[in-house]
Amino acid sequence: MVEIKKRVVNIKMFIDGEWKDAENLQTRPVINPANGEVISYAPEGTVADARAAIYAARHAFEAGVWSGISAQERASYLFKIADKIDEYAAELTELETMDNGKPLREAGFDVADAAACFRYYAGLITAPDGQTYHVADPMQAMVVREPIGVCGLIVPWNYPLLMSVWKIAPALAAGNTIVYKPSEVTPITPKKLFEILEEVGLPKGVANMVMGAGPVVGNEIASHPEVDMVSFTGGTKTGKHIMKTAADTMKKVSLELGGKSPNIIFADMDLELAVDYALFGIYAGSGQVCSAGSRILVEESVYDQFVNRFVERARKIQVGTGNDSSTEMGPLVSEQHLEKVLHYIELGKQEGATLACGGNRIVRDGLDKGYFVEPTVFIDVKQKMRIVQEEIFGPVVVIQKFKDEEEAIKLANGTVYGLAGAVFTNDGAKALRVVKKLRAGITWVNSYHPTYNEAPWGGYKQSGVGRSLGTFGLEEFQEIKQININLQVEPVGWFSN
Ligand code: NAD
Repeated sequence: MVEIKKRVVNIKMFIDGEWKDAENLQTRPVINPANGEVISYAPEGTVADARAAIYAARHAFEAGVWSGISAQERASYLFKIADKIDEYAAELTELETMDNGKPLREAGFDVADAAACFRYYAGLITAPDGQTYHVADPMQAMVVREPIGVCGLIVPWNYPLLMSVWKIAPALAAGNTIVYKPSEVTPITPKKLFEILEEVGLPKGVANMVMGAGPVVGNEIASHPEVDMVSFTGGTKTGKHIMKTAADTMKKVSLELGGKSPNIIFADMDLELAVDYALFGIYAGSGQVCSAGSRILVEESVYDQFVNRFVERARKIQVGTGNDSSTEMGPLVSEQHLEKVLHYIELGKQEGATLACGGNRIVRDGLDKGYFVEPTVFIDVKQKMRIVQEEIFGPVVVIQKFKDEEEAIKLANGTVYGLAGAVFTNDGAKALRVVKKLRAGITWVNSYHPTYNEAPWGGYKQSGVGRSLGTFGLEEFQEIKQININLQVEPVGWFSN
């Protein structure tokens, strides 16, 4: 058991290079989800705070203190940030566990990934880009990529550090200035990250952080005319609101939203391995992962066998506090979210699904004040049920049966979401056939969850618009400019007089 320190003091916002309280001095308690204790108070930012951050970012952008320096210089800052993340890795890991609840080993992966993401974009921004075109003489046509301007970045609580870095690293690499808003539930590692940005000497106003409620601070970022682009990760409902709000000022929007991803298991797959991956697919992060394999589809000939083994192993998952090294699954992030997940479990029962295991809040000694839920499995579900259609975002999985490839694909694609999906089979051609038919942006064959800074991340359908990570993730934060140069100026000859 790692003894995690009890409190984090002095959470402030970072606006125009200074640490600030909310202008009206209001705060919001920050809770440790493992025990319900208040670990800090964060500023409850206002519209005025959001505007101050937006103006600081606008001023820094127009002054060219960031967009005007070379890509190599910007890259050198990003490399330094990555090095600092590594230097503070132990502290960041502990803070992430304390704030979000995830086990230390999960938080540790996130921190390492965050450093790697900064390095990736530091390298990418100095790689060749742009294009030239073979147009008729004497013209020369080319395309260059430019920063968009002021980018609003709004993130959720499930990966407080990593989701932030997926946006901050490419946005800064591209030369933008940013107004960033962490989730109100998890402001602690964001605060540490901004201390790092300050420590490496990022010019004033380039990176600004405002905390506070989504409908207040987030809404101001999405609607303000001085914000040129909004990149949002969160729920589909909020994403729709942001898209509508941003439309008034015709902002570019990039949306990473919810999912209800299918995990398809064919009978020819080694059953033990399929169960192993499927458990990881849903219960990693306590199911609070956008790409979680929350719908398992199993070929009917092995369905009963699969369910029995899956339930047997789900019951054995060690649920506990994130700082306990024997913990395999941590708590949910907040009391409010706990209530939402428990509500869905009740709903599943009312809809007529059979609870094969779990379904309860865990109130045993030591966990009774935290927000822990048993790994939960529903069977005998129908495609129309809300527990099959809607994102629960907790340790709750439905296991469905299919008779052939065609039915598997129909069920898999039968929700409004299209974020991720996986296929397990020993038949390579079948795997590719099925994956190609999945209406989803991220797919795996005989695996679940690996994610790479180098490869694009994002969803089809109502799971989002645009892509994070990879070259695509950088392009989200760039404008494309066409430049046409006349290499021999002569009269146009269009008008005779
Ligand atoms: P959420 O939509 O409630 O909140 C996300 C962020 O939006 C928060 O910072 C919140 O304060 C802000 N916000 C809320 N209302 C707003 C408004 N009216 N205007 C502007 N901003 C507003 O989501 P959450 O509960 O924090 O996170 C869970 C969701 O995030 C899940 O649906 C999950 O699938 C999704 N998610 C998606 C990805 C992905 O890559 N597709 C990754 C992680 C999480």
